[in-house]
Amino acid sequence: MTYSLHLAHLYGDLLNTYGDIGNVLVLDYYAKQMDVKLTSEIVSLDTDFNPQKFDLAFFGGGQDYEQVIVSKDIQNKKQALIDFIESDGPMLAICGGYQLLGKYYIGANGQKIDGIAALNHYTESQDNNRFIGDVVIENSETKQIYHGFENHNGVTYLGEGERPLGKVLEGYGNNGQDKGEGAIYKNVFCSYFHGPILARNGELAKRILLLALKRKYPDANLSKQEQLEIKPTY
Ligand code: GLN
Repeated sequence: MTYSLHLAHLYGDLLNTYGDIGNVLVLDYYAKQMDVKLTSEIVSLDTDFNPQKFDLAFFGGGQDYEQVIVSKDIQNKKQALIDFIESDGPMLAICGGYQLLGKYYIGANGQKIDGIAALNHYTESQDNNRFIGDVVIENSETKQIYHGFENHNGVTYLGEGERPLGKVLEGYGNNGQDKGEGAIYKNVFCSYFHGPILARNGELAKRILLLALKRKYPDANLSKQEQLEIKPTY
C-alpha cells in the first residue's frame, strides 16, 4: 500500500460502550480501499501520548465509573493531546470521550469529573433521565445526513470555537434544547452517536481519513481517495 496511518485508540481498554471499537474497524475498512495501511495501538493508563507518533486518534464512550478513572489519568496527557489537536491532528471522540475533551462532566451521582478543556464545552447531568434512542442530524458544511443511536445522561453545551457536528432532525443531541449534536473544533469530531457512528456514516470516516492523509502527505495527489464512493449503510 502507498500510504500508512497510525491511530491512537485512547483508553480503548476502558471506554468502549456499544461497540465503539467498531469505528476503528470501519476506518480500517475504508483505509484499505484508499490504499492506506492503518495500524493502531491503545494508549491507556500510565502510558504517555506522543503526538508525533500518531496521525489520528479515536476516543470512545463509557460508564461514569470508567470515566472517573480516565479523568485522573488523562490530566497527565493533557498538554500532549492539546498539542496534537492544535496541530490539526484528526480525532473522533464519542460520548464519554467527547465529554472528557471538554471542561468537565457532572456524573449521574453529582460528582464533578474533570476533562482536559482541549475543547470549550462542558457537560451537566440530568435528574433521573437519559437521552436514549435513534438520532438523525444534518452536517451544515456537507449537507450529509448522519444516523445514530444515543444513550447519555450528560447534557453538553458548546463553548467558544466549537460548532455542532450537525443539526438535530430527530432525537435529542447535545442537550435536547438547542438542536445541536456533537462538536467540531479544528479536525476534532465529537458526537454522542454510538452504533458505532462510522459504521452507518461512511462519509464521516472518509472525511477523517482524508484529513489525516492530507496532513501527513501534504504533496500527495489524493484525487483517487477523494473520489471513493461510499455506499449508504443505514
Ligand atoms: N457516562 C456518560 C453519560 O451517561 C457517557 C455515556 C456513554 O459514553 N455512553 O452521559
